[in-house]
Amino acid sequence: MTVHFPFQNSYSALPDSFFARVAPTPVAAPRLIKLNRPLAIQLGLDPDLLETPEGAEILAGKTVPAGADPIAMAYAGHQFGQFVPQLGDGRAILLGEVIDRDGVRRDIQLKGSGPTPFSRRGDGRAALGPVLREYIVSEAMFALGIPTTRSLAAVVTGEHVMRETVLPGAVLTRVAASHIRVGTFQFFAVRRDTGAIRRLADHVIARHYPDLLHAERPYHALLAGVVARQADLIARWLLVGFIHGVMNTDNSSISGETIDYGPCAFMDAYNPAQVFSSIDEMGRYAYANQPRIALWNLTRLAECLLPLFSDDQEKAVAEAQDILGAFAETFSNAYQAGLRKKVGLFTERDGDEALIQDLLDAMAKNQADFTLTFRKLGDAARDDGADVRAQFIEPAAFDEWAGRWRERIAMERQTAAERQAAMHAVNPIFIPRNHRVEAVIQAAVNNDDYAPFEELVKVLAKPFADQPDYAAYADPPLPDQRVLQTFCGT
Ligand code: AMP
Ligand code: MG
Ligand code: MG
Repeated sequence: MTVHFPFQNSYSALPDSFFARVAPTPVAAPRLIKLNRPLAIQLGLDPDLLETPEGAEILAGKTVPAGADPIAMAYAGHQFGQFVPQLGDGRAILLGEVIDRDGVRRDIQLKGSGPTPFSRRGDGRAALGPVLREYIVSEAMFALGIPTTRSLAAVVTGEHVMRETVLPGAVLTRVAASHIRVGTFQFFAVRRDTGAIRRLADHVIARHYPDLLHAERPYHALLAGVVARQADLIARWLLVGFIHGVMNTDNSSISGETIDYGPCAFMDAYNPAQVFSSIDEMGRYAYANQPRIALWNLTRLAECLLPLFSDDQEKAVAEAQDILGAFAETFSNAYQAGLRKKVGLFTERDGDEALIQDLLDAMAKNQADFTLTFRKLGDAARDDGADVRAQFIEPAAFDEWAGRWRERIAMERQTAAERQAAMHAVNPIFIPRNHRVEAVIQAAVNNDDYAPFEELVKVLAKPFADQPDYAAYADPPLPDQRVLQTFCGT
């Protein structure tokens, strides 16, 4: 038996200017580290065959499976606000697309599989640490119910990559609704190729927004659709304390998935200004800036679509501004609704928003752990709140707030048990804490020990379930375990 991928490739059927045909570069000694068996099944692939040596060769880019049409996608992008007219897949190769069990078309992409015409000065490779990091965090996001690219597999290549030090090389198999980014549109916009923009927009509508196929103004509706999905996505990030870290327009997905896990991180103590990425010196991509940056990125997308809106530039701009204007409200509605759920409110009343903001302010002042404060607040619906109090440097700050919160929830008819259950269903206990991710990477890279990786992945697959055997995974770092900086996935 050989591994069969039921490829049905649509992107590589687009015009030649959309990509470069390039095969992965064979590697020395592929070894499968992790196969995501449930995801393999969801994609219609045989997990047992993928775990054979032949499967590992495919997942490492050593063998190209039948039906694949390997390409590197072209894109441009604003990196930290600076426009780069050509980026493209410099170390990723799209093998092709499969239709999953739900009928959804999914890209299967190898990341770290060798140079492409878009590699510029890069080596086209990935180091083991960032591959494990992306695997852990993307799958954790999925388990949290947040739209995201997924990780099908991680393999080590048996080769080394040169970074600041010599590191083991690895390849991640990434699965996405597509890898089309804001930067993909920018690639054609900067070349004034309106035909290509239209072609790309039509492809995106058919693939990601099929409801809009017969809209009266499909390109306007497309922009509105991307705005809505991005607004919802960023709200979800904020509600779990996620900081993407490198929200460049080339890392901003048109399908509305979280994409490109580089220096991303979940915050421990709540701090709206939190930044982890070592290269984000100005805090451009700080936690609380993310909505603003998403809108900035969407504005770049709107600029690309203007030629499709109207020949009258002024009219097109006014229409685009109108559509972008919806971002603030869509985001705010999703964020506020999510916050209300996090504090256990079933109904909406005047003063709720201020009440919740007061909690966030007290958390920031008291370095309260973002995840545990909300999780333990769920328990406080049933008990005296001792555990949530303990998250605050000055527990009195919580007591003052808790009095008002108890008055507010007393206005609702739900029982304490119902409220706790509802809160626990939206407030995770387990997130991929930086210090845990780092420890897992160190064990793998230094000792070839993947047991910690396996255990962390397993715990994070059920982020809302109390897992008493793994309770320590819920703990914030001790002062000497704190990870202050993360680095770009290279
Ligand atoms: P990122 O910061 O991950 O979004 O990557 C930005 C750009 O750099 C993309 O075009 C990547 O394909 C490219 N890139 C990142 N790392 C490498 C590498 N090791 N080799 C070649 N290109 C790379
Ligand atoms: Mg990227
Ligand atoms: Mg990256």
